[in-house]
Amino acid sequence: MHADVTCYLYCCRHQFMDLSLLRQRGYDLMGDDLWYKDGLRFMCLQCGGCCSGFSGTVLVSAAEITVLAQRLGIPETDFQKRYTRAVGKGNISLIEKKNKDCIFFDKEVGCTVYSDRPRQCRSWPFWRSNVYSPERWKRGAARCPGMDQGESHDSEYIKQVSDDDGSSGVVS
Ligand code: SF4
Ligand code: SF4
Repeated sequence: MHADVTCYLYCCRHQFMDLSLLRQRGYDLMGDDLWYKDGLRFMCLQCGGCCSGFSGTVLVSAAEITVLAQRLGIPETDFQKRYTRAVGKGNISLIEKKNKDCIFFDKEVGCTVYSDRPRQCRSWPFWRSNVYSPERWKRGAARCPGMDQGESHDSEYIKQVSDDDGSSGVVS
């Protein structure tokens, strides 16, 4: 059982993999032989690693832009100009600071928009690209020390989160 993905301060903007590329490379599809049928463990260790220090993509939907703009008390058009960039096929991502930290990451605070963070941030590490295969999960875990730690999340929950992970399979 679980109320949410256990990530209280931070979340991830690791690079996306297009699922069509994964299929081309021979990864098994999620299906009858669901490899994580016994669940997967995750507990955020709040290292901040996924929000800082490297170039990444954080997709934001129109609805999420509305919420974030309201939070900052600025018009959506201003928010888009100041905090976002176009990526992929008509998608929008948050931008980064010069040091490659997410624009909303603060070393002392963590995510400064945490309660309104995008879906992509909420769904880590149960992204389609991570749960696609054990190999992909292992690759993600090499960069996120919270994967394979703490509470186990059941396969139904993982499937539910990964089906709507906010990533849209964008390659960045
Ligand atoms: S443990 Fe993983 S999800 Fe949590 S802050 Fe570190 S890299 Fe991000
Ligand atoms: S919006 Fe918040 S949780 Fe998402 S990458 Fe930026 S700092 Fe991290």
